[in-house]
Amino acid sequence: MENKNFNKKVYVETMGCQMNKSDTERILGMLSHFGYEETEEPKEADLLIVNTCSIRQLSADKAYSAVGVWGKWKNEEHKKELEGKPFREIKIAFCGCVAQQDKEKLLKRFPYLDLVFGTNNVYELPDLIKRINNGERVCATNETPKKFTDGEQEAKYEIKRAKSLNAWIPIMEGCNNFCTYCIVPFTRGRERSRKPVDIIEEAKKAIHDGFKEITLLGQNVDSYGKTLDPQKDYDGRDVTLANLLRDLNKIEGKFRIRFVTSYPTDITDDLILAVKECEKVCEFFHIPMQSGNTQVLKEMNRRYSREEYGVIVKKIRDAFKNVAITSDFIAGFPGETEEQFEDTLSAIDEFELDYSNTAAYSPRVKTKAAKWTDKFIDEKTKFERLARLNEKNREACLKSNEKFVGRVLEILVESFEIKDDNVILAGRAENNKIVHFKGEKYLVGKFVDVKITSASTWHLRGELA
Ligand code: SF4
Repeated sequence: MENKNFNKKVYVETMGCQMNKSDTERILGMLSHFGYEETEEPKEADLLIVNTCSIRQLSADKAYSAVGVWGKWKNEEHKKELEGKPFREIKIAFCGCVAQQDKEKLLKRFPYLDLVFGTNNVYELPDLIKRINNGERVCATNETPKKFTDGEQEAKYEIKRAKSLNAWIPIMEGCNNFCTYCIVPFTRGRERSRKPVDIIEEAKKAIHDGFKEITLLGQNVDSYGKTLDPQKDYDGRDVTLANLLRDLNKIEGKFRIRFVTSYPTDITDDLILAVKECEKVCEFFHIPMQSGNTQVLKEMNRRYSREEYGVIVKKIRDAFKNVAITSDFIAGFPGETEEQFEDTLSAIDEFELDYSNTAAYSPRVKTKAAKWTDKFIDEKTKFERLARLNEKNREACLKSNEKFVGRVLEILVESFEIKDDNVILAGRAENNKIVHFKGEKYLVGKFVDVKITSASTWHLRGELA
């Protein structure tokens, strides 16, 4: 099989969250092991893969449209073949959350699709590719998760990480929370954690390979360890995110550790303490609140009230000087009244949230809230609320950025651009704030201290301290 694929090119279009990006890195790693070279140009690929997200309809629609375009290319090549002209054999694969959800339906809907594989079948890819190269059309969407319980299988393939300073490391996958709007428990399955030993090994390798930052990923990252046994899977200590951070912090070298996404009530005092103790762990928390109104939170099946969210935020703010706390919010959840929506706007102010991802409610099949059609908010109101939410977010970001003027922050320099003959560097502070400042190109990839001199909505400006 390996010889057969030499000189073949693969293009992957990745949509959605960091977990998908991380899966893509693993997919590319496996494919490079089997002779596929990555290309950024879909037109020259022999294997086209779309790694999909089902959080919002828009994202799923984008995936369908990409596959539609690729299907046309494939038909053109097939025509050439029938005419006896030189042709390329194109294979098309559909993976990720929409694949996990729609399964065989996708093969029926898109006759030119060769492969559908779900989030639980990533590690079967070499075998699946072999089957489609032999002419089969395959759908592999196991309900049983394999990925995180099979360290041996994982170790067989190098991860082909994207060119950046940050290495994404999934530590747990799935979710047991069943928020009434969310498709994740249906597409990624129930919560399960990877063994600490495998995570630490992967982190050591990433640091050895020159990455300056590792980001631990999980749909509910602060719930890490609940499916593991302290005696069998660890050294007897509780398997928690806090202890994992302490272990990762011991890896030698200068680098940063981040973790996303946290569920508010899974942030324990010990986790806050661990972030404080570990100098490599960033003072940054992404804690989706989703709504500022307790009744709406109940209907969303979130396990906290507005007040309880506030208590967690206060504990974190009291513990760290330069911390940033970011959030996610949904506008126009079924049944949300104008007053309840205004509670969301006031929550952003009250908790001084530094930045929020925002979205209009999008019904997803299988979820509870999608059935509450009689309570759906009309589109005009929903998008008008989203626009107000975005405006509030812009105000909050500027206010948050202004707090940092005059302070010195350590920046990891990520990139540069030339402006009016000056080299302008861009990097991130521990709290994830983006900072621009004059400097030299060789500083890319280095840590430098920068004094913040001014703030705008989306970034800070400063000078080397
Ligand atoms: S916590 Fe809720 S929103 Fe987050 S992944 Fe789980 S079900 Fe979805």
